[in-house]
Amino acid sequence: MDPLKVRVLPDSVLRKKASKVSEVGEPEKAILADMATTMYLSKGVGLAAVQVGIDKQLCVIDVGNGLIKMANPYIVKMSGTQVEEEGCLSVPGVTAKVKRARSVTVVFLNEDGELVRLEAEGLLARAVQHEVDHLGGILILDRINPVKKLLLRRKLKRERKPKIP
Ligand SMILES: [Zn+2]
Repeated sequence: MDPLKVRVLPDSVLRKKASKVSEVGEPEKAILADMATTMYLSKGVGLAAVQVGIDKQLCVIDVGNGLIKMANPYIVKMSGTQVEEEGCLSVPGVTAKVKRARSVTVVFLNEDGELVRLEAEGLLARAVQHEVDHLGGILILDRINPVKKLLLRRKLKRERKPKIP
């Protein structure tokens, strides 16, 4: 299980919609294992394959209650709202209040290729929505207030400029 390189903005791979996997085979299992290693090393609670430059609808989540590996996750039900501070490994140094559904029902294929229906709420529901967003090319920047987004964009631009001693 090898850690993978986490892509950060402005890497355009983060804006691509990931392709569905036709099955969860050995290559997918290996990717999911490497993604889990990468997530734990990066101290994240979730990681989507696009974040490591892989065009597949795969993600891993662990909000402290155990590792969940998902293929082709699809949210079938959302209810309530929650607004919490959220960060992203691909948008380093930025946290923002993001409005999300309080609870979601997500359907996905597990590592054994079985169809799983998971009801999640709170932080887990937030993580599921965040990772499903990634697989659709959506980042937290797209989920926040437009004024705050402008300010963050400026901040990101400034930080990308080479530092002159
Ligand atoms: Zn993220």
